[in-house]
Amino acid sequence: MTLAALPKPKLGEPYLLTPGPLTTSAEVKEAMLRDWGSWDGDFRAMTRELRSRILAMLGAGADGFDCVPIQGSGTFAVEAMLASFVPKTGKVLVLCNGAYGKRAVTILEYLGRAHAVLDMGDYLPPRGADVARVLAEDAAITHVLAVHCETSSGILNPLQEIADATQAAGRALLVDSMSAFGAVPLDPSVTPFEAAVSSANKCIEGVPGFGFVVARTAALEAAKGNSQSLSLDLHAQWAVMEQTGQWRFTPPTHVVAAFLVALRAHEAEGGVAARGARYANNRDVLVAGMRRLGFETLLLDDWLSPIITTFFCPADPNFDFTQFYDRMKARGFILYPGKLTRAESFRIGHIGHVDGAVMQAVVDAASDVLTEMNVSSAAPSTASLAERQAHGE
Ligand SMILES: *Cc1c(COP(=O)(O)O)cnc(C)c1O
Repeated sequence: MTLAALPKPKLGEPYLLTPGPLTTSAEVKEAMLRDWGSWDGDFRAMTRELRSRILAMLGAGADGFDCVPIQGSGTFAVEAMLASFVPKTGKVLVLCNGAYGKRAVTILEYLGRAHAVLDMGDYLPPRGADVARVLAEDAAITHVLAVHCETSSGILNPLQEIADATQAAGRALLVDSMSAFGAVPLDPSVTPFEAAVSSANKCIEGVPGFGFVVARTAALEAAKGNSQSLSLDLHAQWAVMEQTGQWRFTPPTHVVAAFLVALRAHEAEGGVAARGARYANNRDVLVAGMRRLGFETLLLDDWLSPIITTFFCPADPNFDFTQFYDRMKARGFILYPGKLTRAESFRIGHIGHVDGAVMQAVVDAASDVLTEMNVSSAAPSTASLAERQAHGE
């Protein structure tokens, strides 16, 4: 759980405690120092290795699945998944409890696909029983979209019960596993789903530039003709890749080279279980330390993810987030502003090439900064706590 040769960040290169882009290893960065021909056999072999390594992360259920990488940021992959697997006559139930669920709704509006929304606010996960109820009431729903870890609050949604409810109702589950894949198990023989997406710059610790979809091969075959977007058509991307070993359009070659190094490091660390354990330890060190300073987490312990944690801003009038951010940055740590609709908050990601020692250094820096800012207590306002109690407990 401690990274053997964790290098200190170079002068002027802070740790990115932002869940993508995030801090990558020196080896991942070095892999980008050469050029590759996208049609060349060497690069085609790299694409093959990438696809099979991603598939292997599904575990026992990988049979009957395939992996299709697609250019762009993670949102491009979410949009590609929705456009390709939901037929024009389909209807999607979006399980929404934060910004990424809302973004999926916006995508469906752009795509002109019928949808229903189960909105849980910022604090609560959609539960299996909620999903079963909505599906029983609306026979037109063909697909359910779940966000695995809702990165805007850090909530780890209960995917197992969502998948079970979706399967029991005979519908297909699509998963935005962007910030969870590679650190939280996602085995389709345990947690049935039709397709899931993630991207290069989250738990696999690569650099940004493409996303990827893992999907049932049968669903990829059936997706022909669904997408109204040429560049985001997963069936076409898959069919060309199967036939030629190449990406349809210019691939981000350097990003792929870096990603392969990240994938090999992921395996060497011990795969999904070990990656998840390091991140969980990062969270535990961070949350315990921040709580000692008086900070409170937005979420109750049950829903804290190993990916990112949201903290309420202290109520002390001397606290100012912009100042806090700048002073933390000066100490080598880039934090993440809050992305909540209501409460004043900020986030600290604990994924990337960081370990418990880095998290302890974050807590120590936060302690120093609070002293500098003359903040005597990091406790949040009673209003924030009351809201958490009203919505979350
Ligand atoms: C990061 C992320 C995305 C994709 O965001 P991009 O900025 O497009 O890469 C989508 N969903 C979730 C849950 C995420 O964490």
